[in-house]
Amino acid sequence: MPKSILVVEDEQEIRELLVFTLLRDGYEVVEAETAEVALEKIDNSLPDLILVDWMLPGMDGIDLAKRLRRDELTADLPIVMLTARGEEADKLQSFAGGIDDYITKPFSPRELLARLKALLRRSGGPKNNLIEASGICLDLNSYRITINGNEIQISPTEYKLLEVLMRNPDRAFERSQLLDRVWGRQVFVEERTVDVHMLRLRKILKPYGLDATLQTVRGIGYRFTSVS
Ligand code: CA
Repeated sequence: MPKSILVVEDEQEIRELLVFTLLRDGYEVVEAETAEVALEKIDNSLPDLILVDWMLPGMDGIDLAKRLRRDELTADLPIVMLTARGEEADKLQSFAGGIDDYITKPFSPRELLARLKALLRRSGGPKNNLIEASGICLDLNSYRITINGNEIQISPTEYKLLEVLMRNPDRAFERSQLLDRVWGRQVFVEERTVDVHMLRLRKILKPYGLDATLQTVRGIGYRFTSVS
């Protein structure tokens, strides 16, 4: 599964160069000309990393980064800021906590790719692209699931739901948080849809005695917990 990067840059030439560079390196790329459009795209589908130009018309890159940090859904999203040479580095320094890295324009594509790769590696995700707990193994490259070594069939929605839960073991998610992560914010889905898919997931896990890994958290939603 390729990593997705949201590129937010108002200058078409630079944006095209960024997109070209990233696509050639195997990333999935989403483009936005403004911070406002970027927020819509994020609501639609959460990228793995956002590359944002500092100087944008309307909301600038720093305000966008601040806003993303305040939002529970995007608080941990890796953010790389693009700055033009000569823009006050001290101003950026004062905001260093809000961004993960910055790159000065004009940039070297090779350096850009190396920095993004390092950041994506650091920013989490399992090293070998496997998430494993209680005998359940999600292969994030192939979208396959095995339980105790047996491959099982599962819909893309249930896969995504299980992935979100297993990435955050023991964390209780509200239904609305699961909807945001699995379906995206721009899709209208009723909260009980989550219950329907959780029920299906439990059915899939039950023959292996693993349905208890998916716990209902009363008054909140659901969590994944390892069972031995
Ligand atoms: Ca700009």
